[in-house]
Order: sequence, then C-alpha cells, then structure tokens
Amino acid sequence: MYIKISNLSDGVHKFSFDESVKEINLEEPFSGNLRAEIELSKTNSQIILDAGFSVNAHFECDRCANDYNSELHGNFQTVYFLGSKPEGEEKDNLVYLPTTADRIEIGKDLRDFAVLSIPMKKICKEDCKGLCYNCGKDLNEGECGCERSKADSRWLPLIELKEKLNNK
Ligand SMILES: [Zn+2]
Ligand SMILES: [Zn+2]
Repeated sequence: MYIKISNLSDGVHKFSFDESVKEINLEEPFSGNLRAEIELSKTNSQIILDAGFSVNAHFECDRCANDYNSELHGNFQTVYFLGSKPEGEEKDNLVYLPTTADRIEIGKDLRDFAVLSIPMKKICKEDCKGLCYNCGKDLNEGECGCERSKADSRWLPLIELKEKLNNK
C-alpha cells in the first residue's frame, strides 16, 4: 500500500484508503477492511505524514469469555526528509527518502500501528459482569442465585478493599 508522491505539489494533500486487511497482510484477530485517512504536508525538503485509521478485530472477553467485535482506532505521524541521510543519524518516525522517490510505502506502518492498537485488556463492554466465580454462569444473562459472599476466597481481599473505597 503506497502513496504516489511524484508530481506532488507543495502544500497539504489528503488521501483516503479502504483496504481489506488481507491486502496489507493483517491476520487474526483483524477482519474486514482497514480505513485510513492520510494527510501529507509537503515542502521542498520534507513530507509530514499524519495518518488516522480504524480497523475491525474480534477478541474473546477477559471477563465473560464471549467473542466480541471491536473497532480499533489509531494514529501516527512520520516525517520524511527528501535527500540523503546524514552519517549516524538514527531517529524514530524519521525517514530519509531519495529525492527521486516516487512513492511512500505506508502498508508496514499501518500494519505495525494496527497491531499496537490491540488493547491489553479485552472487555466486551464497559460493564461486563463476567462469570460467577462459583458456578461459572455468565452474569450478563442474569443472576445465578449463588451468594456473592461465597465468592472465591482469593478475591476477598480485593472485594473488601473495594467496599472500603466505596464507603469513603
Ligand atoms: Zn464480557
Ligand atoms: Zn453462580
């Protein structure tokens, strides 16, 4: 996936992409299309690329173990310098392009940032009630009848702490 930059005039240029995740080699848990809005600000010596994207992915909820779909979002900026790279210069988000370059390859950055946008905590919804510690019932579907005080003793210190905080 690339943006053609030959004949690009100085100034701001906008591009929209809507590509299947397969097209940019994104595998599980991604599915469907990745949509990206890209803005290039070009001067005679550099191009600043601002990208925003959204992509669908499916996960298993950490609390209730149900599968759910989620739309992930991310953005990043890359600065491209047109010209040869000075000795020993090594910076993140800074790329040197030969003045003869006619395109910017963005597939790898989109791929990397899509992977970075996967949340550490995967929760199907903000108020997911999870599973009963005692009988394993999905509490989003209703109460199971177990007494909450019989919760797994490993959780008791946490429950007590939470009650203390709530009573402040
Ligand atoms: Zn859940
Ligand atoms: Zn239960």
